[in-house]
Amino acid sequence: MMFPASIAGSLPKPAWLAEPDKLWPRWRLDGEPLAQAKLDATLLAIKAQEDAGLDIVSDGEMSRQHFVHGFLEAVDGIDFANKVEMGIRADRYRAMVPVVRGPLALKGRVHAREARFARAHTHRKLKMTLPGPMTICDTIADAHYGDKVKMAFAFAELLNREARALEEDGVDVIQFDEPAFNVFMDEVADWGIEALHRAIDRLNCTTAVHICYGYGIKANIDWKRSLGAEWRQYEKIFPALARSRIDQVSIECIHSHVPLELLSLLNGKDVLVGVIDVATDAVETPQEIAEVIGRVIKHVPKERVVACTNCGMAPMRRELAAAKLTALGQGVALARRRYA
Ligand code: ZN
Repeated sequence: MMFPASIAGSLPKPAWLAEPDKLWPRWRLDGEPLAQAKLDATLLAIKAQEDAGLDIVSDGEMSRQHFVHGFLEAVDGIDFANKVEMGIRADRYRAMVPVVRGPLALKGRVHAREARFARAHTHRKLKMTLPGPMTICDTIADAHYGDKVKMAFAFAELLNREARALEEDGVDVIQFDEPAFNVFMDEVADWGIEALHRAIDRLNCTTAVHICYGYGIKANIDWKRSLGAEWRQYEKIFPALARSRIDQVSIECIHSHVPLELLSLLNGKDVLVGVIDVATDAVETPQEIAEVIGRVIKHVPKERVVACTNCGMAPMRRELAAAKLTALGQGVALARRRYA
């Protein structure tokens, strides 16, 4: 199948599950009713992706409050009761974050329930996402390790355990979300990729890393405005990613100021090409989507292109996300006809 279609990972949660339109939504229920509601929402997320014609579906991240803290809640050694304010993504915005106060250990499985449930309810390829070690370390305060790299490898070890268990659950693609790769470019080559390698150790399924310029929230949009006409940050990290053992790299392309010729630096990797903008309310037309794919295949072999969203759709209005999913399916269908 040329240009398989997928999403970066998250979809908006139904209003009966969590507060709508928020990046850190509060749950509407708790206990077992909440656990059941998360699975109900997972089923709807899968159905919406299948109906849109997507080839690789995700659980929509319905079971986690936030893409980083959904994992952290399952980790011992973290103090959630006494959060501290911290500047994250090199102080682009401030957030209340939990604190590492002791040795890190998994309390048990993190995403077993939703992964197995999703696996049981779709015949399509299934992708699950986990936060990357560098991004975790940029979203949590440390009062124990005293060394960011040491803490990152401790997290990578835990991520690896969960990732191997997800593979056992029948997950086809495991993606690590590393928006911090785009903030600490020097550290990516120094230790970021090695930490990812630790996280994918002994995995046989497809592995991916999502890097990006951030969700469509105001702090990110303002920051993007400050970057000028051409965004060349990736020039520094793509060669290191090309040398890595990660199979796929997910990046934003539509409405991005990243010069597409930089994609040739990802030689040998599948590229998850963002053709859906998560920061605008305008729904892409199939022609726009096909046109982005047409520009990308000048730099990436066709068989290495996966059509994807620029980033997660969690903070988006639900009906808008649904319309964008439909557009993605139609755009890919058009691209297949046009570039076959
Ligand atoms: Zn992203």
